[in-house]
Amino acid sequence: MKHSKQGTERATADSGRRAHTKERPHSLETRTEQVLTGESIGVGVAIGPAFVVREDPEPDLRERLSSLNREEEEERFRDAVIRSISQLGKLQARLALLPEDSQFEIGSLLDVYRRMLGPSRLQRGVTRRIAEGLSAEAAVFEETEALAQASHPPQGARAGSGEDAAAARRRADEFREIGRRLLRNLTRTPFLTLRGMPDGAILVTESLRPSDAALIDPSRVAAVVSEEGGATGHTAIMLRALGIPAVLAVAGALDAVSGGAEVVVDGDRGRVVVDPASDTLVEARGAVAAYAQERQKLGRMRRLSSKLASGEKVLLQANLELPAELPLIAQSGAAGIGLLRTEFLFINSEELPDETTQFELYAGLVEAMGADTTTIRVLDWGGEKPSEALERAGLSTLGETANPALGLRGIRLLLKHPALLETQLAAILRASAVGPLQVLLPMVTVVEEITAARDIYERVARRLRRKGVALAETLPPFGAMIETPAAALTAGALAQHADFLAIGTNDLTMYALAADRASADVASLYDALHPAVLRMIADVVNAALQHRTPVSLCGEIAGDPILTPLLVGLGLRSLSMTASAVPRVKQVIRSVRYEECVRLGRRVLAETDSKAIMKVLQEFGNAEMG
Ligand code: PEP
Ligand code: MG
Repeated sequence: MKHSKQGTERATADSGRRAHTKERPHSLETRTEQVLTGESIGVGVAIGPAFVVREDPEPDLRERLSSLNREEEEERFRDAVIRSISQLGKLQARLALLPEDSQFEIGSLLDVYRRMLGPSRLQRGVTRRIAEGLSAEAAVFEETEALAQASHPPQGARAGSGEDAAAARRRADEFREIGRRLLRNLTRTPFLTLRGMPDGAILVTESLRPSDAALIDPSRVAAVVSEEGGATGHTAIMLRALGIPAVLAVAGALDAVSGGAEVVVDGDRGRVVVDPASDTLVEARGAVAAYAQERQKLGRMRRLSSKLASGEKVLLQANLELPAELPLIAQSGAAGIGLLRTEFLFINSEELPDETTQFELYAGLVEAMGADTTTIRVLDWGGEKPSEALERAGLSTLGETANPALGLRGIRLLLKHPALLETQLAAILRASAVGPLQVLLPMVTVVEEITAARDIYERVARRLRRKGVALAETLPPFGAMIETPAAALTAGALAQHADFLAIGTNDLTMYALAADRASADVASLYDALHPAVLRMIADVVNAALQHRTPVSLCGEIAGDPILTPLLVGLGLRSLSMTASAVPRVKQVIRSVRYEECVRLGRRVLAETDSKAIMKVLQEFGNAEMG
């Protein structure tokens, strides 16, 4: 484990991140306020005394290299696996004490760890290395490090960026984390202990593992400051889910903060103030109170109706990527699922999910939604991600084209391999007997894709009925995603063949601007506020209205409250977004009037660049939404 070498000299505490100082004018002691910066995780501000925890050094892997006995090492490894599984079980048991959204975040991570400890590549790799003569410790270290590096190669050799790179980094962290747990169990080295930590203290540590974060009690720990980590890692995700303000990647924190020192942690701005001056403290106390009030207000939103101040109803639904997110939907007050991405069924599986597996899953979700509709999108495989299940079935398109996003993606892949679509449609149709649902086709570019898929849909329904399987009386609505410029520009024709349209601005932006949504190199060009994208949205909504075809929008921008009045002004009455965004969007919906949204829409469409559009939206937000 590396220890920070930074001295206490503040201006040089970090390369890139600067520490600033300010005198404490009213302090009897001559202590100086010190500001450190790091990565924010965005959950408010906390004030409290510092509790500094230094980790024990990692075990020495060179120990015991002589006199190794293969069977003994295998036995020790098995024992460490059993201990690790049992510790994860205890963590799992603790989850019930946490808020529901935290249960989901942490629960899915514990599942990942448990899968790694089961019959997996990791297990096979460690056993092979032991057979080659390594100690259990060295075998675990080398295997988990090799898997981590394969997931996220070191700088230079790495391909990909943006979301993909962040996911790869998280995967690498998962391997290293499980490796550390196994090593500590092999050598009986204790884990991070918070024994003796006073309630309301601020934990200052070199690094916080996700599983350590899972053990933190949000009612006892006011905030976290860590020298390592980053805003997109699992530790950050967990702290965010637990609602604990935190600043990560704060270089030199251990040297700068002594135990008991008063600390302000601003998780929104990524600032840590040690020994704050009195004006800093006053400001921080104001922020703590405002944050608590805001949370309360958003909590109340769940029960309020989603209507504009002028009375028109706007349907707010949730996008769902994993069934485990279900509790978040209930908490958010979303009225159903506007987009169920079914890719999860194919990603973590060695076999293609059969009809029954899919049916049980869809039926469970539909039942949980009660009278609210579930929109199930059939598989949107892009070819850019590996899927063991599709590869084994000989259906993967990976590596066959230089431009996977322009290749056999979404409905194109499904129509090329209709058996895949038939199985999924049969499962969805069977779930239609349980409650209201609708079917959505991804990546449509031509009318024929809708008509060909609908033929299959109706044929599958006839077959099921012949066999006496219970289905909904009328076939569930059959809709198309509008996420390519071709679909947007011919939305009128598509609207005549689809029962509803769903605008997917994530891909629409990518294809309209020729800017990969996952590439950091073109991130500044990837902008849904580009007039080209906004005009397409407006055209799609108009075409849908003309043909009386319901239309919704389910790209990421649906969850951005600053855009809400614009989307309403462009004519949308149905938005689907990540569940946690629903309360804030509803707050905006309830505060704006329809006529002013329409005026805003016209003004925005007259603008010619996205910066000017953002300025108009911000001015509207300041004037109308307070
Ligand atoms: C979209 O493209 O906007 C969309 C909702 O689909 P996905 O993000 O799953 O591609
Ligand atoms: Mg899409």
